[in-house]
Amino acid sequence: MSAKIPVTVLGATGVVGQRFVRRLAHHPFFVVQHLVASERSEGKRYRDACAWRLDGEPYGGLGDHVLGPGSEEGSFSPVVFSALDTGPAKEMEPAFAKAGALVFSNASAFRMAETVPLLVPEVNGEHLGLVEAQRRHHGWKGAIVTNPNCTATVLVMALAPLHATFGIEAVMMTSMQAVSGAGYPGVPSLDILGNVIPFIRNEEEKVEEETPKLLGRFAQDHIEMAPMVVTALCHRVPVLEGHTEAVSVRLKGNPSPEEVAKTLREWRAEPQALGLPTAPRIPVHVHDLPDRPQVRKDVEGDGGMSVHVGRIRPCPLLGIKFTLLGHNTERGAAGASILNAELAHAKGLA
Ligand code: NAP
Repeated sequence: MSAKIPVTVLGATGVVGQRFVRRLAHHPFFVVQHLVASERSEGKRYRDACAWRLDGEPYGGLGDHVLGPGSEEGSFSPVVFSALDTGPAKEMEPAFAKAGALVFSNASAFRMAETVPLLVPEVNGEHLGLVEAQRRHHGWKGAIVTNPNCTATVLVMALAPLHATFGIEAVMMTSMQAVSGAGYPGVPSLDILGNVIPFIRNEEEKVEEETPKLLGRFAQDHIEMAPMVVTALCHRVPVLEGHTEAVSVRLKGNPSPEEVAKTLREWRAEPQALGLPTAPRIPVHVHDLPDRPQVRKDVEGDGGMSVHVGRIRPCPLLGIKFTLLGHNTERGAAGASILNAELAHAKGLA
């Protein structure tokens, strides 16, 4: 077997960064070379800079690793995973890409840029073709590849097979989103315990603009947006991990709930065919019990990489409605980026 590819994790101390470190600790293709966080953390040991919040081996076995500088000169690796906030991402991600790194980012800074792939490997693997146009456009050796907002990621996992099979005309999605989606320390406990907050800044806009790009058509140097209307209503609820989404969808040809369930249940995509290490064997689990999916019972299955659909039934407004659940910090963040990198590796890019 060939040597593992060295990687840098930017934002390594945060909610998503820690999940990167845990997943990379025993990865078959990648090995951690540099961990980076803010200037506050630079030069400290990972165990001193990071309040480890996950189960499993503390600090992913990298507790004595010293955090590097946020510059590409000091912390370069050919593959970079970014769990940075949008502000620092805007500065640091292009610098690493210019220096030749393939940057897999969770941040929203470049998701909608014309030549940046907004990638979910099961949904739009061909969008990786934008990397060539991006390199030409900027004169970079490297590139930036993004994964979508966590709520949009979970949504398109269920929409993609329906769009491919029937064609989607309209989507209405109402979310109940976990507190981990706001990073650490996130929403104060006094605000969220026993409560529902009907506002997450910019979240509805992200779902509405990212979904048509995700389901759009690769056209060499840009993506032709999928022609559909998407409306999102987003809420924060007192749940730790896992976004639940109530979805209504108008499909061409008005298929029955049974046809929709069969389409979702039988769907397999490129990551499953390639056997990528982070890909779930079954991307969409369709539940028959009337009270599923549920966060506590379902969200951690398959390392949080599959999504769950239940209660598929007729909708008097749009035709079909169902309940959808997915893991926001795995399928919607760290696991998503790592799966993107695995696909890029399989296609000879990383
Ligand atoms: P977080 O817990 O607040 O972590 C932020 C990380 O960024 C920390 O490692 C922090 O380092 C570092 N950082 C802060 N300011 C910095 C600076 N000026 N320069 C360099 N590093 C800096 O946030 P998170 O929830 O992990 O989110 C990270 C990114 O992923 C965000 O863009 C978010 O929108 C996106 N995302 C999150 C989720 C989710 O469910 N949480 C899902 C999808 C996407 P220090 O410890 O040194 O401060």
